Amino acid sequence: MDTVSKERRSEIMGNIKGVHTAPELLVRKYLFKYGFRFSLHRKNLPGTPDIVLSKYKAVIFVSGCFWHGHIGCIKSALPKTRVEFWETKIFRNKERDNLNMRKLEKLGWKVIVIFQCELKKKDLDQTMGSVIERIVSK
Ligand SMILES: [Zn+2]
Repeated sequence: MDTVSKERRSEIMGNIKGVHTAPELLVRKYLFKYGFRFSLHRKNLPGTPDIVLSKYKAVIFVSGCFWHGHIGCIKSALPKTRVEFWETKIFRNKERDNLNMRKLEKLGWKVIVIFQCELKKKDLDQTMGSVIERIVSK
């Protein structure tokens, strides 16, 4: 029996990297507003990046802090029960993330990772500002 609290569970489930999550939509809207055009969830690229800006040879992953083990982030705190299970799971996710990123970089893509917690309203402009800098950088 899993004893993760109800709130925690729904938070965790909400963080599952699904297609078209709210944080991802936020990023897409922002980029679109600034004139960037992109494709989505390109399955022919390692890790199926959420946003692909072919013109700039850049890909963006919008990652949930919990599932992708955002280091030092309060949202990545593990549930108090079944710690080992979660640790292993998150560790594997991170390993897979890293592998995909290395593959993408080898293929010449700029890889940009945005964590969910970096998209809070007060941080959005700053986060997206540096994302855009990365996108257009040579
Ligand atoms: Zn975070």
